Amino acid sequence: MSSNKKILVLPGDGIGTEVMSEVLNIMEWMSKNKSVSFDVSERLVGGAAFDREGNSISDATMQEALDSDAVLLGAVGGPQWDSVERDKRPEAALLRLRKEMDLFANLRPAIVFDALANSSSLKAELIKGLNILILRELTSGVYYGLPRGVEKIKDQEEKAIDTQSYTTSEIERIGKVGFDLAKKRSNKVTSVEKANVMETGMFWRKIITSLHKREFNDVELNHMYADNCAMQLVRYPKQFDVIVTDNLFGDILSDCAAMLTGSLGMLPSASLGSVDVSGKRPGMYEPVHGSAPDIAGQNKANPLAMIMSFAMMLRYSFDMLEDSTLIEKAVQNVLSKGLRTLDIKQDNEKAVSTKEMGAAVIEELNIVSGK
Ligand code: NAD
Repeated sequence: MSSNKKILVLPGDGIGTEVMSEVLNIMEWMSKNKSVSFDVSERLVGGAAFDREGNSISDATMQEALDSDAVLLGAVGGPQWDSVERDKRPEAALLRLRKEMDLFANLRPAIVFDALANSSSLKAELIKGLNILILRELTSGVYYGLPRGVEKIKDQEEKAIDTQSYTTSEIERIGKVGFDLAKKRSNKVTSVEKANVMETGMFWRKIITSLHKREFNDVELNHMYADNCAMQLVRYPKQFDVIVTDNLFGDILSDCAAMLTGSLGMLPSASLGSVDVSGKRPGMYEPVHGSAPDIAGQNKANPLAMIMSFAMMLRYSFDMLEDSTLIEKAVQNVLSKGLRTLDIKQDNEKAVSTKEMGAAVIEELNIVSGK
């Protein structure tokens, strides 16, 4: 089987370049052993792009992202760019990519590998085998709503305003992604809002309910208030399958769910847009962690979040379920054999380097695929 899927690789800054290099090795392994080749191009983004090209993402890179089948991003940022003007800062590149690719659906799986169940702050029996997906609306809601700003009311008194707003179509399109994803998992969606105290919450619930009735009544749906959801995530997280929620609540709840798994170095993510007329759905895949300036350049970073982000790309952008599962299986086996990077090791364990972890995954790919 061969594939000429066009992937734009944006390693970025700090550990972004180190963890991306391990994914490039896996792509090479795939082309040698699975006859799957990708059409890969690599460009600068973030602080690295600012230093060389004067902006955190150039127009040419943005255009290439739009022309690609999927974008794979490492991480951006670092203290050396903290004083750069806001619209040229490394993080501005992420916002531009999300906005221009219209990536409205952010998928954050929280999966606990058995071998790491003791790394969580929750009791192992609560989270062993956990596999939930937080689906966050990413391009609307209170982070984008207008009016926003600070205005003067009278002497010594100002008022800050943010506006939470959602339209029918914005809720429907994220709801559809949630129901579709649930169908490929445990068929259960929990829709989260504050219908008890917010107009947008009531509206969100109404739209999700009618979408469910109209198109997805074979999927189990329940509704939950966001504050209760935060409690339930730490009380009994295994009750959830797919949680679909707005931008603000998703921001908070996905970080909460992430911590159930123990380490930032283990968390992949995907951001998806709408399917266009040619059937293409734009997608950007990146680990949840940042550029980790404290360990950058030291060969200490955990590459597994980046590797699992690549596995998500195979699954959601290219429908390569078998290859995606193969990589996830290799990661699971490597952990079961006791390999740990600095961030996931217990006090009495020895840490392996980024490169050693990457090489161990490749070795495991050989074993799992019988090479
Ligand atoms: P961070 O995620 O970079 O690091 C937080 C802590 O987790 C650090 O101690 C780091 O060493 C550790 N860590 C993170 N990823 C790890 C990995 N793969 N393996 C081992 N340890 C890991 O967050 P931060 O320190 O708040 O931010 C650093 C920079 O990254 C900032 O400039 C920030 O703006 C940026 N950032 C970028 C993204 C992104 O590119 N999507 C996300 C978050 C933060």
